[in-house]
Amino acid sequence: MKTYMSDQEDQMTLEPQGEDAPVQDQSAVDALETVIEVDHVNFAYIPGTDVLKDISMNINKGEVTAFIGPSGCGKSTLLRCLNRMNDLIPKAGLTQGEIRILGTDIYHPEVDVIELRKHVGMVFQKYNPFPKSIYENVAYGLRIQGVNRKSVLDEAVESSLKLAGLWDEVKDRLDSSGLGLSGGQQQRLCIARTIAVQPKIILMDEPCSALDPISTTIIEELITQLKQEFTIVIVTHNMQQATRVSDRTAYFYLGELIEMDVTTKIFTNPSQQKTEEYISGRFG
Ligand code: ADP
Repeated sequence: MKTYMSDQEDQMTLEPQGEDAPVQDQSAVDALETVIEVDHVNFAYIPGTDVLKDISMNINKGEVTAFIGPSGCGKSTLLRCLNRMNDLIPKAGLTQGEIRILGTDIYHPEVDVIELRKHVGMVFQKYNPFPKSIYENVAYGLRIQGVNRKSVLDEAVESSLKLAGLWDEVKDRLDSSGLGLSGGQQQRLCIARTIAVQPKIILMDEPCSALDPISTTIIEELITQLKQEFTIVIVTHNMQQATRVSDRTAYFYLGELIEMDVTTKIFTNPSQQKTEEYISGRFG
Protein backbone atom coordinates (compact mmCIF):
# COMPACT_ATOMS: atom_id res chain seq x y z
CA MET A 1 0.00 0.00 0.00
CA LYS A 2 1.35 3.37 -0.90
CA THR A 3 1.42 5.60 2.14
CA TYR A 4 2.03 9.29 2.46
CA MET A 5 2.16 9.14 6.24
CA SER A 6 5.82 9.17 7.14
CA ASP A 7 7.82 10.75 9.93
CA GLN A 8 9.47 12.92 7.32
CA GLU A 9 6.22 14.67 6.87
CA ASP A 10 7.56 17.52 4.80
CA GLN A 11 8.47 15.04 2.11
CA MET A 12 4.85 14.18 1.54
CA THR A 13 3.44 15.03 -1.82
CA LEU A 14 0.30 14.20 -3.70
CA GLU A 15 2.09 12.64 -6.60
CA PRO A 16 -0.08 11.75 -9.55
CA GLN A 17 0.90 8.40 -10.98
CA GLY A 18 1.44 7.65 -14.64
CA GLU A 19 3.54 8.67 -17.58
CA ASP A 20 2.05 12.07 -18.19
CA ALA A 21 2.11 13.06 -14.53
CA PRO A 22 3.79 16.44 -14.06
CA VAL A 23 7.37 16.14 -12.89
CA GLN A 24 7.83 16.92 -9.21
CA ASP A 25 10.90 18.71 -7.96
CA GLN A 26 11.07 17.35 -4.41
CA SER A 27 13.38 20.05 -3.11
CA ALA A 28 11.02 22.71 -4.40
CA VAL A 29 8.10 21.00 -2.69
CA ASP A 30 10.03 20.80 0.58
CA ALA A 31 10.81 24.48 0.46
CA LEU A 32 7.21 25.53 -0.11
CA GLU A 33 5.66 27.62 2.56
CA THR A 34 2.59 28.02 0.41
CA VAL A 35 0.69 24.76 0.72
CA ILE A 36 -2.36 25.64 -1.37
CA GLU A 37 -2.23 27.60 -4.61
CA VAL A 38 -5.47 28.52 -6.28
CA ASP A 39 -4.60 29.70 -9.76
CA HIS A 40 -7.22 31.55 -11.84
CA VAL A 41 -10.01 29.15 -10.93
CA ASN A 42 -13.54 29.26 -12.28
CA PHE A 43 -16.08 26.72 -11.09
CA ALA A 44 -19.60 25.84 -12.26
CA TYR A 45 -22.30 23.57 -10.87
CA ILE A 46 -24.27 24.00 -14.09
CA PRO A 47 -22.21 24.27 -17.27
CA GLY A 48 -22.16 27.87 -18.46
CA THR A 49 -22.87 29.37 -15.03
CA ASP A 50 -19.64 30.02 -13.16
CA VAL A 51 -20.14 30.59 -9.43
CA LEU A 52 -16.42 31.12 -8.82
CA LYS A 53 -14.75 33.62 -11.10
CA ASP A 54 -11.03 33.83 -11.68
CA ILE A 55 -10.03 33.07 -8.09
CA SER A 56 -6.31 33.18 -7.31
CA MET A 57 -4.87 32.91 -3.84
CA ASN A 58 -2.03 31.34 -1.88
CA ILE A 59 -2.63 29.71 1.48
CA ASN A 60 0.33 29.42 3.80
CA LYS A 61 1.50 26.52 5.89
CA GLY A 62 0.65 26.73 9.58
CA GLU A 63 -1.80 29.57 9.23
CA VAL A 64 -5.53 29.81 9.72
CA THR A 65 -7.15 31.33 6.64
CA ALA A 66 -10.76 32.48 6.90
CA PHE A 67 -13.18 32.80 3.97
CA ILE A 68 -15.82 35.44 4.61
CA GLY A 69 -18.54 37.08 2.56
CA PRO A 70 -22.31 37.19 2.17
CA SER A 71 -24.26 34.00 1.79
CA GLY A 72 -24.03 32.48 -1.69
CA CYS A 73 -20.75 34.21 -2.63
CA GLY A 74 -18.91 30.90 -3.13
CA LYS A 75 -17.00 30.36 0.12
CA SER A 76 -18.11 26.76 0.65
CA THR A 77 -17.77 25.97 -3.03
CA LEU A 78 -14.12 27.00 -3.02
CA LEU A 79 -13.48 25.19 0.24
CA ARG A 80 -14.98 22.00 -1.17
CA CYS A 81 -12.87 22.38 -4.31
CA LEU A 82 -9.78 22.03 -2.10
CA ASN A 83 -10.41 18.34 -1.43
CA ARG A 84 -12.53 17.68 -4.50
CA MET A 85 -15.69 17.27 -2.49
CA ASN A 86 -17.61 18.80 -5.40
CA ASP A 87 -16.65 15.79 -7.53
CA LEU A 88 -19.73 14.10 -6.08
CA ILE A 89 -22.05 16.56 -7.89
CA PRO A 90 -22.74 15.52 -11.50
CA LYS A 91 -21.56 18.04 -14.11
CA ALA A 92 -19.98 20.29 -11.46
CA GLY A 93 -16.32 21.15 -11.86
CA LEU A 94 -13.54 23.61 -12.52
CA THR A 95 -14.07 25.35 -15.84
CA GLN A 96 -10.76 27.19 -15.73
CA GLY A 97 -7.55 27.24 -13.75
CA GLU A 98 -5.69 24.92 -11.44
CA ILE A 99 -5.48 24.14 -7.73
CA ARG A 100 -2.13 22.93 -6.48
CA ILE A 101 -1.73 21.42 -3.04
CA LEU A 102 1.73 20.58 -1.78
CA GLY A 103 2.88 21.39 -5.30
CA THR A 104 0.56 19.00 -7.12
CA ASP A 105 -2.32 19.82 -9.45
CA ILE A 106 -5.11 18.09 -7.51
CA TYR A 107 -7.40 17.96 -10.56
CA HIS A 108 -4.82 16.11 -12.60
CA PRO A 109 -6.57 12.98 -13.89
CA GLU A 110 -3.95 10.74 -12.27
CA VAL A 111 -4.46 12.11 -8.76
CA ASP A 112 -6.01 9.60 -6.37
CA VAL A 113 -8.82 11.44 -4.57
CA ILE A 114 -8.64 9.09 -1.57
CA GLU A 115 -4.96 9.97 -1.14
CA LEU A 116 -5.78 13.65 -1.53
CA ARG A 117 -8.34 13.48 1.25
CA LYS A 118 -5.82 11.85 3.58
CA HIS A 119 -3.86 15.06 3.29
CA VAL A 120 -6.81 17.40 3.20
CA GLY A 121 -9.34 16.54 5.89
CA MET A 122 -12.70 18.19 6.35
CA VAL A 123 -14.89 19.18 9.29
CA PHE A 124 -18.48 20.00 8.44
CA GLN A 125 -21.02 22.50 9.71
CA LYS A 126 -23.25 19.80 11.15
CA TYR A 127 -21.17 17.48 13.28
CA ASN A 128 -21.59 13.99 11.92
CA PRO A 129 -20.14 11.25 14.14
CA PHE A 130 -20.77 7.73 12.95
CA PRO A 131 -23.18 5.60 15.01
CA LYS A 132 -20.20 3.87 16.57
CA SER A 133 -18.24 4.13 19.79
CA ILE A 134 -16.10 7.16 20.52
CA TYR A 135 -13.02 4.96 20.03
CA GLU A 136 -14.17 3.61 16.68
CA ASN A 137 -15.10 7.06 15.42
CA VAL A 138 -11.52 8.22 15.90
CA ALA A 139 -9.97 4.95 14.70
CA TYR A 140 -12.17 4.84 11.60
CA GLY A 141 -9.83 6.49 9.09
CA LEU A 142 -6.89 4.41 10.21
CA ARG A 143 -8.87 1.18 9.97
CA ILE A 144 -9.87 2.16 6.42
CA GLN A 145 -6.16 2.46 5.70
CA GLY A 146 -5.65 -1.08 6.95
CA VAL A 147 -4.23 -0.20 10.37
CA ASN A 148 -5.58 -2.73 12.84
CA ARG A 149 -2.87 -3.22 15.47
CA LYS A 150 -4.46 -2.33 18.79
CA SER A 151 -1.43 -0.55 20.24
CA VAL A 152 -1.19 1.72 17.18
CA LEU A 153 -4.90 2.49 17.23
CA ASP A 154 -4.91 3.08 21.01
CA GLU A 155 -2.08 5.54 20.67
CA ALA A 156 -3.69 7.35 17.72
CA VAL A 157 -7.09 7.54 19.43
CA GLU A 158 -5.60 8.94 22.62
CA SER A 159 -3.33 11.48 20.94
CA SER A 160 -6.08 12.64 18.56
CA LEU A 161 -8.62 13.04 21.36
CA LYS A 162 -6.02 14.95 23.38
CA LEU A 163 -5.27 17.24 20.45
CA ALA A 164 -8.99 17.79 19.99
CA GLY A 165 -9.30 18.71 23.67
CA LEU A 166 -11.73 15.88 24.36
CA TRP A 167 -9.63 13.19 26.05
CA ASP A 168 -10.30 14.13 29.66
CA GLU A 169 -14.04 14.23 29.04
CA VAL A 170 -14.28 10.83 27.34
CA LYS A 171 -11.31 8.70 28.43
CA ASP A 172 -13.49 6.64 30.79
CA ARG A 173 -16.17 5.94 28.20
CA LEU A 174 -14.40 5.30 24.94
CA ASP A 175 -16.77 2.42 24.23
CA SER A 176 -19.88 4.59 24.53
CA SER A 177 -21.60 5.84 21.41
CA GLY A 178 -20.25 9.03 19.88
CA LEU A 179 -23.85 10.09 19.39
CA GLY A 180 -24.31 10.31 23.16
CA LEU A 181 -21.99 13.31 23.44
CA SER A 182 -23.12 16.94 23.52
CA GLY A 183 -23.08 18.90 20.26
CA GLY A 184 -19.79 20.62 21.04
CA GLN A 185 -18.22 17.33 22.08
CA GLN A 186 -19.48 15.66 18.91
CA GLN A 187 -17.84 18.37 16.82
CA ARG A 188 -14.57 17.87 18.71
CA LEU A 189 -14.95 14.13 18.13
CA CYS A 190 -15.24 14.83 14.41
CA ILE A 191 -12.12 16.97 14.62
CA ALA A 192 -10.32 14.10 16.41
CA ARG A 193 -11.50 11.73 13.67
CA THR A 194 -10.12 14.11 11.05
CA ILE A 195 -6.72 14.59 12.68
CA ALA A 196 -6.24 10.87 13.47
CA VAL A 197 -5.09 10.26 9.88
CA GLN A 198 -2.59 13.12 10.19
CA PRO A 199 -3.71 15.39 7.37
CA LYS A 200 -1.59 18.37 6.42
CA ILE A 201 -4.60 20.61 5.90
CA ILE A 202 -7.95 20.80 7.66
CA LEU A 203 -10.91 22.41 5.92
CA MET A 204 -13.66 23.64 8.22
CA ASP A 205 -17.03 24.63 6.82
CA GLU A 206 -18.75 26.81 9.43
CA PRO A 207 -17.73 24.39 12.19
CA CYS A 208 -19.40 26.36 14.97
CA SER A 209 -22.64 27.45 13.38
CA ALA A 210 -24.64 24.64 15.01
CA LEU A 211 -23.04 25.16 18.43
CA ASP A 212 -23.83 27.19 21.54
CA PRO A 213 -21.50 30.07 22.51
CA ILE A 214 -19.50 28.08 25.07
CA SER A 215 -18.88 25.20 22.66
CA THR A 216 -18.01 27.77 20.00
CA THR A 217 -15.37 29.31 22.26
CA ILE A 218 -13.88 25.87 22.94
CA ILE A 219 -13.67 25.08 19.21
CA GLU A 220 -12.16 28.50 18.45
CA GLU A 221 -9.47 27.96 21.09
CA LEU A 222 -8.87 24.53 19.64
CA ILE A 223 -8.42 25.96 16.12
CA THR A 224 -5.74 28.30 17.46
CA GLN A 225 -3.90 25.34 19.00
CA LEU A 226 -4.31 23.09 15.97
CA LYS A 227 -2.59 25.52 13.64
CA GLN A 228 0.70 24.59 15.28
CA GLU A 229 0.37 21.23 13.51
CA PHE A 230 -2.00 21.83 10.62
CA THR A 231 -2.84 24.40 8.01
CA ILE A 232 -6.47 25.37 8.48
CA VAL A 233 -8.97 26.93 6.10
CA ILE A 234 -12.25 27.94 7.68
CA VAL A 235 -15.47 29.25 6.16
CA THR A 236 -17.34 31.44 8.59
CA HIS A 237 -20.29 33.77 8.33
CA ASN A 238 -19.21 35.25 11.67
CA MET A 239 -16.79 38.12 11.20
CA GLN A 240 -15.88 38.21 14.89
CA GLN A 241 -14.92 34.58 14.62
CA ALA A 242 -12.68 35.36 11.65
CA THR A 243 -10.92 38.07 13.68
CA ARG A 244 -10.49 35.74 16.65
CA VAL A 245 -9.14 32.67 14.89
CA SER A 246 -7.59 33.59 11.57
CA ASP A 247 -4.23 34.93 10.47
CA ARG A 248 -5.41 35.80 7.01
CA THR A 249 -8.85 36.56 5.65
CA ALA A 250 -10.26 36.31 2.14
CA TYR A 251 -13.37 38.34 1.35
CA PHE A 252 -15.62 37.01 -1.42
CA TYR A 253 -18.51 38.70 -3.16
CA LEU A 254 -20.64 37.23 -5.95
CA GLY A 255 -18.12 34.52 -6.76
CA GLU A 256 -15.12 36.85 -6.88
CA LEU A 257 -12.25 37.18 -4.45
CA ILE A 258 -12.37 40.87 -3.64
CA GLU A 259 -9.42 40.95 -1.28
CA MET A 260 -7.19 38.70 0.77
CA ASP A 261 -4.82 39.97 3.40
CA VAL A 262 -3.67 39.69 6.98
CA THR A 263 -6.83 39.52 9.10
CA THR A 264 -6.11 42.62 11.15
CA LYS A 265 -5.63 44.61 7.95
CA ILE A 266 -8.85 43.34 6.39
CA PHE A 267 -10.82 44.35 9.49
CA THR A 268 -9.12 47.67 10.21
CA ASN A 269 -7.87 49.04 6.93
CA PRO A 270 -9.00 47.02 3.91
CA SER A 271 -7.74 48.04 0.49
CA GLN A 272 -11.06 47.61 -1.31
CA GLN A 273 -14.16 49.69 -0.78
CA LYS A 274 -16.36 46.59 -1.20
CA THR A 275 -14.58 44.95 1.73
CA GLU A 276 -14.96 48.10 3.82
CA GLU A 277 -18.69 48.17 3.12
CA TYR A 278 -19.07 44.55 4.16
CA ILE A 279 -17.01 44.62 7.34
CA SER A 280 -18.63 47.85 8.47
CA GLY A 281 -22.02 46.14 8.13
CA ARG A 282 -23.32 48.33 5.33
CA PHE A 283 -24.54 45.19 3.59
CA GLY A 284 -24.36 41.41 3.71
P1 ADP B 1 -21.46 30.41 0.42
O1 ADP B 1 -20.69 29.28 1.02
O2 ADP B 1 -20.66 31.64 0.27
O3 ADP B 1 -22.77 30.66 1.11
P2 ADP B 1 -21.88 28.57 -1.78
O4 ADP B 1 -20.52 28.19 -2.18
O5 ADP B 1 -22.65 27.61 -0.94
O6 ADP B 1 -21.83 30.00 -1.09
O7 ADP B 1 -22.74 28.86 -3.07
C1 ADP B 1 -22.23 29.63 -4.18
C2 ADP B 1 -23.25 29.58 -5.29
O8 ADP B 1 -23.37 28.26 -5.78
C3 ADP B 1 -24.65 30.00 -4.87
O9 ADP B 1 -25.24 30.70 -5.93
C4 ADP B 1 -25.35 28.67 -4.64
O10 ADP B 1 -26.74 28.79 -4.89
C5 ADP B 1 -24.69 27.79 -5.70
N1 ADP B 1 -24.66 26.38 -5.27
C6 ADP B 1 -24.15 25.88 -4.13
N2 ADP B 1 -24.26 24.55 -4.10
C7 ADP B 1 -24.86 24.18 -5.25
C8 ADP B 1 -25.24 22.92 -5.83
N3 ADP B 1 -25.03 21.77 -5.20
N4 ADP B 1 -25.83 22.96 -7.04
C9 ADP B 1 -26.04 24.10 -7.70
N5 ADP B 1 -25.70 25.32 -7.23
C10 ADP B 1 -25.12 25.36 -6.02
